[in-house]
Amino acid sequence: DPRLILVLGDQLSLGLSALREGVKSRDIVVMAEVREEGTYVAHHAKKIALILSAMRHFAKELRADGWTVAYTALDDAENTHSIGGEVLRRAEEHGADEVIATVPGEWRLRQKLDHLPIKTTQLPDDRFIASEGEFANWAEGRKSLRMEYFYREMRRMTGILMDGKDPEGGKWNYDSENRKPASGDLFMPEPLRVTPDGVTEDVLALVAAEYPDTFGQLEPFWFGTRRADAEKAADHFFKEALPGFGDYQDAMLEGERFLYHSVLSIYLNIGLLDPLDLCQRAEAEYRAGRAPLNAVEGYIRQILGWREFIRGIYFLDGPDYTKHNKLRAQRKLPDFYWTGETDMACIRAAVTQTIEEAYAHHIQRLMVTGNFALIAGINPAEVHEWYLAVYADAFEWVEAPNTIGMVLHADGGMVGSKPYAASGAYIDRMSDHCAACHYNVKVKHGEGACPFNPLYWDFLLRNRERFEGNPRMAQMYRTWDRMKPENQRASQDSAAAILKDLSNGKRI
Ligand code: FAD
Repeated sequence: DPRLILVLGDQLSLGLSALREGVKSRDIVVMAEVREEGTYVAHHAKKIALILSAMRHFAKELRADGWTVAYTALDDAENTHSIGGEVLRRAEEHGADEVIATVPGEWRLRQKLDHLPIKTTQLPDDRFIASEGEFANWAEGRKSLRMEYFYREMRRMTGILMDGKDPEGGKWNYDSENRKPASGDLFMPEPLRVTPDGVTEDVLALVAAEYPDTFGQLEPFWFGTRRADAEKAADHFFKEALPGFGDYQDAMLEGERFLYHSVLSIYLNIGLLDPLDLCQRAEAEYRAGRAPLNAVEGYIRQILGWREFIRGIYFLDGPDYTKHNKLRAQRKLPDFYWTGETDMACIRAAVTQTIEEAYAHHIQRLMVTGNFALIAGINPAEVHEWYLAVYADAFEWVEAPNTIGMVLHADGGMVGSKPYAASGAYIDRMSDHCAACHYNVKVKHGEGACPFNPLYWDFLLRNRERFEGNPRMAQMYRTWDRMKPENQRASQDSAAAILKDLSNGKRI
């Protein structure tokens, strides 16, 4: 009898473990566009289109490679609209009594596959550089898990950017040379834009018809959806942007949406690019003298370090990771996260480009929308749902630990040893948003004050017991304690007024 080989929308890799296990001449590949996956959060229209078009291209690739593919389109009449439903329908149709899958990237789907009423094997997803077992071994017995140490281990394990037993250049991390603010007259590379082909045009019409009310602008749609497009986008990044990647990694500029970022996570996370290959190619650029060490090390650390570490935490902690709320933050997510309608210029820029591009770079996600959610005490589950919905690269294994852990510190410090809370001064230093903002970043409280300023102090005070003893935060509490009582009071009054306006849905 044939077996079913299940391929999910973020598993579009020819070397996928389930495909390696299958037999082309006998087994049936099952792929399905189902409403359940498109609507459990209000995914960005571009994200849905990216995944559906890439799935259709991948099915073609598999057929050309000799596979039989049972493909369900979103508007097929028999579509049961759930992954489980489609697997069972295809099993009956083809007389199959066994399913081979590659383990999904989120607990929700893993648990669904665990409970299918048909024999289902979930093979490891070995498209990552560290296996879940290797991460668990590394984590075993450690008091705290820190990305930097895990990253060093990964450098040693892969030999990437190593000079024998030592890190290339003598240091593991060159961030001290990065983090430069950018200026508007800098040469700015642009990510590669791909003109939609016939397959993508069909998908765009389908998404417009089937998801009329979902978040975000569908067009212009410029993401590539074929493996060859993703490869071209990677070539383009290595040539045009990698050399400047380190210097401007943390910068933000009004109107510059991509700076020197790769915009490759959209391809990497659905399986069109391979993480180890990207790291090796970045290293080759350094070895050939085409990109400096600070840029290449910084880029490699994001993938070999952060991406792998984040995934490790998500699966190590377990199915309830997204329920963490250690700081007991309960405020509702403000509407401006969905509309961009706020007078805070930095948030307006980040949300507007999120609506239009389904993309914002790391510092916007972390220090603008993320930081605001942290210091305003927004409920982590709502913030998590937002990030999962609005970015084209968002899949729970990578989005949730970044949101719940890195940004909101809701996991009690598993991902990061301290929250990245910051006042307006940080945003002013790293961006040009403040110059034309309605608020004045230099004003700490009262009329016209940048809301990040009083909310920052309010956050520290609300969580004093938890953070005062943290050596990296103690200094800030001393600064507060030295402030004049009338300034402390004014700051607290401002924070209370802003939080009240937020609760009442007033524009801020
Ligand atoms: P670049 O700046 O070019 O970085 C290179 C690569 O490194 C990225 O393509 C990505 O694969 C990897 N990377 C960098 N930082 C991280 C990180 N912190 N965690 C994991 N991988 C990283 N990334 C996602 O892929 N999906 C998400 O849903 C996602 N949600 C996030 C939510 C929040 C609140 C925050 C703070 C970060 C999130 N990130 C997420 C991490 C990071 O912001 C994105 O990977 C990055 O912005 C993608 O754009 P890029 O490809 O241009 O990245």
